[in-house]
Amino acid sequence: MTKKQPITVAMGDGIGPEIMDATLKILDRAGAMIEPEFIDIGEKLYLEGHSTGIPDDAWESLRRTKVFLKAPITTPQGGGYKSLNVTIRKSLGLYANVRPNISYEQFIKTKHPNMDLVIVRENEEDLYAGIEHQQTPEVVQCLKLITRPGSEKIIRYAFEYARKNNRKKVTCFSKDNIMKLTDGLFHKVFNEIAEEYPDIEKEHWIIDIGIAKIADTPQDFDVVVMPNLYGDIASDVAAQITGSVGLAGSANIGDQCAMFEAIHGSAPDIAGKGIANPSGLINGAIMMLVHIGQPEIAAKIHNAWLKTLEDGIFTGDIAKGGASVGTMEFAEAVMDRL
Ligand code: NAD
Repeated sequence: MTKKQPITVAMGDGIGPEIMDATLKILDRAGAMIEPEFIDIGEKLYLEGHSTGIPDDAWESLRRTKVFLKAPITTPQGGGYKSLNVTIRKSLGLYANVRPNISYEQFIKTKHPNMDLVIVRENEEDLYAGIEHQQTPEVVQCLKLITRPGSEKIIRYAFEYARKNNRKKVTCFSKDNIMKLTDGLFHKVFNEIAEEYPDIEKEHWIIDIGIAKIADTPQDFDVVVMPNLYGDIASDVAAQITGSVGLAGSANIGDQCAMFEAIHGSAPDIAGKGIANPSGLINGAIMMLVHIGQPEIAAKIHNAWLKTLEDGIFTGDIAKGGASVGTMEFAEAVMDRL
């Protein structure tokens, strides 16, 4: 019998505990060979005096297991402590944020039946570097950081991902007509690295029209690579047009560690109601199983999840006013179809 793989798990807050509970039950029922180690991170830990919101024993678990399944965590807006998500991504060197977006046309009504694109978001640099200054009482500044090594790493990752997954085209989004140095460097590095992959088509769009095109003709895109902030925005747009931001999962990949999560946040507006869609985290967990070498169990869960949608079992965000089930009922429907 294969040895169980230890994984670090954070239940998160808001809808986090509800969707993580549902996801862990599915993983367990499907026979995933994992040994979850639970860590406590987030606001409570800040209040207890941990400056990052992540205590030492949590870091120890993360550095040892190197695999993290994380539910969403709230970050205060316009002040307060630094985003714990950003701290984890940077501290563990999770440079590539991979976000697949697929339309399930047979099951979920969509204007975009043939959409199957993967956003590869740079995950450590750009405006997320957290370099913000109060210049004067009335002037504030945020520095945008783009480096050649960081750009090379993420762009090469996107082309390698395309090659491995038999994808035909890599598109780059930037705003190098305005940010000529920072986005200019990203675009320049893209053109250089594309030369190394003559078998893969390349194209570039300026970010604003690029996202507009994703919203209109997403079927024209395959792998799309971009700096951090653009990737955050574009992937919410892409997920929403497949039916809901609650559908998409993501893999945050580094050289040593990897973290898997839903793309959405803690959804405080629906927290505690038992109605959140657990699909994003389920899809993140499926990516985790592939990453740790359990692709058969990943496929088993994915098929059961698809069959659940095929049978018309939807949470409220997908049902959009039609008949819907709660988080745990949805998870039970997936488990019945394993
Ligand atoms: P959000 O993604 O939490 O919610 C946006 C909208 O989508 C809300 O109306 C919400 O109800 C809905 N929604 C999101 N997930 C859903 C699901 N699974 N099922 C059904 N509906 C769902 O974005 P927000 O409101 O901008 O952010 C809330 C908090 O989450 C903020 O503190 C933000 O910083 C944090 N956040 C965390 C992460 C993360 O942990 N990786 C990511 C994004 C945002």
